[in-house]
Amino acid sequence: MALIQCPDCGNMISENADSCPKCGYSLKSVREREERLREEKRKHDRAMMHLLEFGLLLFALILFFLFASSHATEKTVLNFLTFVSSMWAILPIVIIVGIIILIFKK
Ligand SMILES: [Zn+2]
Repeated sequence: MALIQCPDCGNMISENADSCPKCGYSLKSVREREERLREEKRKHDRAMMHLLEFGLLLFALILFFLFASSHATEKTVLNFLTFVSSMWAILPIVIIVGIIILIFKK
């Protein structure tokens, strides 16, 4: 069992104690806050991973269509350009919806 210093009075107390026996400072709330911060960081990291995955998927799609169109007729190139321009129109909406979902998940 390790000893930690009370953030309030500096008294050495058990890290498992819920509160400081000397000054009554609540260590439980500190631990809960730390746990909340860790959880928020995990959520943030997950969200960033999803964003990265989405970006990679988009990149792969564009590369695929670029590769496909290099062997293709003018019509396919035109289809590709239409696809890309429609993607650019959709992208801000996807990002906004993603942000809204992230905010409401918390
Ligand atoms: Zn204390």
